[in-house]
Amino acid sequence: TPVLLWLRQDLRLHDHPALIAAAHAGSVIPVYVLDDDAPGKWKMGGAQRWWLHHTLDAFGKSLADKGSKLVLRRGDAVEVLTALMEEIGAEQVHAIRHYEPWWRKAEAALGNRLCLHDGNHLARVEDVKTGSGGQFKVYSSFWKALNQMMPPGDPEPAPRTIPAPSKWPKSDTLADWDLLPTKPDWSAGFGDWTPGEAQALKNAKAMAPIVEAYDVDRNMPSIEGTSRLSPHLHFGEISPRTVWHAVDGHGDATTFRKELAWRDFTDGVVLTMPDYGDTNGRPKFDKLPWRSGKDAEADLKAWQEGRTGYPIVDAGMRQLWATGWMHNRVRMITASFLVKHLLIDWREGERWFWDCLVDADYGNNSVNWQWVAGTGVDSNMFGRIMAPLTQSEKFDAGDYIREWVPELAKVTGEAIHDPDESGCSPKAYPAKIVGHREGRERALEAGRHAR
Ligand code: FAD
Repeated sequence: TPVLLWLRQDLRLHDHPALIAAAHAGSVIPVYVLDDDAPGKWKMGGAQRWWLHHTLDAFGKSLADKGSKLVLRRGDAVEVLTALMEEIGAEQVHAIRHYEPWWRKAEAALGNRLCLHDGNHLARVEDVKTGSGGQFKVYSSFWKALNQMMPPGDPEPAPRTIPAPSKWPKSDTLADWDLLPTKPDWSAGFGDWTPGEAQALKNAKAMAPIVEAYDVDRNMPSIEGTSRLSPHLHFGEISPRTVWHAVDGHGDATTFRKELAWRDFTDGVVLTMPDYGDTNGRPKFDKLPWRSGKDAEADLKAWQEGRTGYPIVDAGMRQLWATGWMHNRVRMITASFLVKHLLIDWREGERWFWDCLVDADYGNNSVNWQWVAGTGVDSNMFGRIMAPLTQSEKFDAGDYIREWVPELAKVTGEAIHDPDESGCSPKAYPAKIVGHREGRERALEAGRHAR
């Protein structure tokens, strides 16, 4: 009997419990449905669509090597899957569980035709509970509880072959979906990425020898001290337990694993608060007097384009635009700058990241934005304001800035962190759009409104 394997952000062959179960149940029809309506505002952004195109291409080839095929369809996922089941006479759909609210709705609508498997988290999200049985709201306690359930089981290898049906249903072609940018083509700087499972496994392997140094190096944007696994993990090209075990035996990997576990935590948050992507985790912050109007719009644009006059902020925003990724330390600095120094609603930042990040992820993006903004359940106080210039110095961001802000490529020494102040800012580089003290005081005043 034919069974459907519904693929979403789990585009891999190894450690795929839904694929294994489907292969046991009958002949497998792997299907990816491009559903642009169900996610509403969180329809995939431009950078993700670029990644999706390439990862589907790679995954289709991997399936073909196993005697199978990837069927592509477009439309409302529940309707497409229901029609496809009827068309091929299948009664079951196998899939890996996801926690985005729109996927949970679709899963519920498929009812008992759907067999869900866990595979995209270190532990089943619902199982990591507080003493009173709820989801954790504070990361440190979450980590303690999760860590007691670790290590996760061993990842399963890819199946040798995948049973194929005698007749394949029709499929769209990737070209039909227009996922790649055309005019303008902004993807020239995406060339260092290789979407797909093979590269994901390579990145995990490459992390092993540097995992001990990660504790310090992960904060330094000028060096390659992190795994760059985020888009691979988001699209499920690698399972988190494969990543966990990839660094076994290479010294103390605690800090790295603790970061990896953030993904699990953020899905726990959106499981209990599905609207977290645009609703303050703590309602008292609904009173924050965010700026709006022409000046705020111009500031938002300057932030998006990396023209704030703060070199570390501008470097981060330009790296994001050029490559679809930004270093974590710099994500925190740029996010804090938007929300505090510019007093612009964190939701504007979430939107921009959503469109620009190759790793844009509903749970990770919203929880991190609300964490920086101070509006979330596990947050800094709103009054904690990052000083971008001090951060830049402390984490030695000079080379990073020179790479991403060509106007400053020739600025040497400590002046790179604040060329304006040092009196050596080249003409081509913009002046600060807001003074540090001015921005800070305005934010503190706004924070008092929410108290
Ligand atoms: P590594 O340091 O090598 O970490 C390994 C993996 O652990 C990452 O690939 C990622 O899957 C996970 N991870 C690490 N840190 C975090 C974290 N703070 N939160 C959640 N997962 C984490 N990450 C996303 O994957 N998608 C997003 O949309 C996203 N938006 C963010 C928005 C803001 C404002 C901030 C401050 C952070 C955001 N992050 C997001 C988290 C983090 O910046 C990236 O996961 C990380 O920079 C990816 O680089 P890496 O793969 O080299 O990470």
